[in-house]
Amino acid sequence: MLSELEYDVLVCGSGMAGITAAAAAAEDGLSVGVIEYFGEPGGIPVSGRLGSISGFTRLDQVAVGGFPRAFADRLDARGKALVQSGGSNINLPPTALVSEIFDLLDFYRIGFYGYSKLTGLEKTQDTVTSALVAMKEGVRRIGAKLFIDATGDGDAAALAGCPFMKGRPSDGKVQSATLIFIIGGLDRARMPEYMEIRKIWKSKVRQVPINHSVFQFVPHGENSSEIAVNMTHAVNADPLSSAGLTAMRRTCVKQAEYLLDFFRTEIPGFENAWISQFAPQMGVRDSRRILGDCVLTADDVLSGRRFEDEIALGVWNIDVHSPDGVHTGVGQAVKAPYGIPYRCITPKGVKNLLIAGRSISCDFEAFSSTRINAVCMAVGEFAGSAAREIISSGDIRRIDVKKIRAKMRDTSYRFFSAPRNAPALPRPWYDPARE
Ligand SMILES: Cc1cc2nc3c(=O)[nH]c(=O)nc-3n(C[C@H](O)[C@H](O)[C@H](O)COP(=O)(O)OP(=O)(O)OC[C@H]3O[C@@H](n4cnc5c(N)ncnc54)[C@H](O)[C@@H]3O)c2cc1C
Repeated sequence: MLSELEYDVLVCGSGMAGITAAAAAAEDGLSVGVIEYFGEPGGIPVSGRLGSISGFTRLDQVAVGGFPRAFADRLDARGKALVQSGGSNINLPPTALVSEIFDLLDFYRIGFYGYSKLTGLEKTQDTVTSALVAMKEGVRRIGAKLFIDATGDGDAAALAGCPFMKGRPSDGKVQSATLIFIIGGLDRARMPEYMEIRKIWKSKVRQVPINHSVFQFVPHGENSSEIAVNMTHAVNADPLSSAGLTAMRRTCVKQAEYLLDFFRTEIPGFENAWISQFAPQMGVRDSRRILGDCVLTADDVLSGRRFEDEIALGVWNIDVHSPDGVHTGVGQAVKAPYGIPYRCITPKGVKNLLIAGRSISCDFEAFSSTRINAVCMAVGEFAGSAAREIISSGDIRRIDVKKIRAKMRDTSYRFFSAPRNAPALPRPWYDPARE
């Protein structure tokens, strides 16, 4: 075993939930480490090449503010992102997002370990003591007082032996997965409007079995000649095994080639197009949902239920990409923001592990609403903001949720007011993290 590292908080996974949790804990003066399987932080919007963060608002209803909103506004103010749907969604090139996240990690002196996979957790009774992380140079042990599972798949909680749910209740099958790919070389001046292209796609006989057609320009400026295509769909493969992920990828690569041919033949402006990238990360929508002290239900979501211990709000529609391969479209509309209770991020059987991001405790349908990025970030923000109090009480179940929420309302993150290229914050005195 290589030398050990020690942090107050270890965040496993650096998607938008993980980086938000890390920033919130670091803003509070805690030493924070983040481990990430890919070389770049950002999760699906970066390594999944999606470039979209949605779910802030719906019509005039605001669900998500705080760090996620400030982060989106900063990207907008820097001209890196396109704000869409009245502020509900931002769309940006993954490259722009990753550099912004690296700035954030640098500013707070968060220890970021890329190319590092969580492979085990060590426990003493119900307390997690350290993570075993497979790095290029070998396996390293990283200790922490609090662990935050932001792996999307709930890997940390599963390794800690926490119970989880998976897939729809009838047969355990998960929502379809998508490999995002980028098409370059478009002649934008000759291309029909987006809705017209969709009409052409839907009017033809197709080999790709899913009735789901979404693509968006990667916003490199007004004349962007690249689109990110969200149209491949893989079903019936296990997102929690290497074989399953590989099978999904192979299916989607074939579908992408078919799609390119289709576009080149049928749609003006695509004649000389090519696939310039497949996303490194498979776009898994759905895997483990870690069983918490409460399970958020579709009824809670649709009725806009609010909770005493809520830590975030969601307002995204129920949107199940069916495991059978037929996209349901928008499942059911959410009319008013619903609350997400703290008990949805407290896994059973452990005292110092929280969930942030898409693997929180929900039923199958509620999950299809909470999995949206702005909500994942809002949940991550609470997890990071609660870290100091959890560390001092020694138990995730012994904190005052309302007090932490009040603290969050007052927090303005130094990262957002610091001038560009501001020097990093000094390390907390007790931070033993090594370079
Ligand atoms: C095809 C597709 C389209 C979508 N469209 C939208 C959209 O338009 N707008 C929107 O807001 N949301 C969209 N979503 C949903 C959203 O992107 C995800 O639900 C959200 O990104 C989940 O965030 P997360 O931080 O929980 O997980 P992720 O973004 O998956 O991040 C988890 C991170 O943990 C890392 N990791 C996993 N396991 C380990 C391990 N064992 N060790 C180390 N690191 C690990 C991963 O590499 C990853 O970087 C879409 C999802 C998909 C798949």
